[in-house]
Amino acid sequence: MTVFSKIIAGEIPSCKVAENKDFYAFLDINPVAKGHTLVVPKKEEDYLFDLDDKTLGDMMVFSKRVAKALKKAVPCKRIGVTVIGLEVPHAHIHLIPITKESDIYFNQPKLKPTSKELKEIAAAIAEKFE
Ligand code: AMP
Repeated sequence: MTVFSKIIAGEIPSCKVAENKDFYAFLDINPVAKGHTLVVPKKEEDYLFDLDDKTLGDMMVFSKRVAKALKKAVPCKRIGVTVIGLEVPHAHIHLIPITKESDIYFNQPKLKPTSKELKEIAAAIAEKFE
């Protein structure tokens, strides 16, 4: 079971942003920018492009809804989208509020939000999710 499956199952705490029957969105614990969110399929699959076509398509549409909420909750110009997947072997999309290109760089020092700040951001995004 991956760390993300444990999060989805509620065995590991997370700051949930949105959920439906197939996908779960929550804040990255080591954000590169305020509001950095991960979208994961509940179905455990390592590599994003090994997902079946329907799941991958639905995941992108779900990510779009999360991105719209994120844009409303966190001041930014765009929601940047990144897929890396070298650390956690459970497909996921990074959604990152950006105003300039360097806001999405993963080699910059990570932010260190308190758990209270993370909870507040997650609640603000969740409130805008439609
Ligand atoms: P990658 O697999 O390279 O796309 O990176 C995995 C991402 O998951 C990193 O940005 C981590 O900070 C994030 N991450 C790992 N464990 C957790 C966790 N328990 N809760 C939230 N985010 C996590």
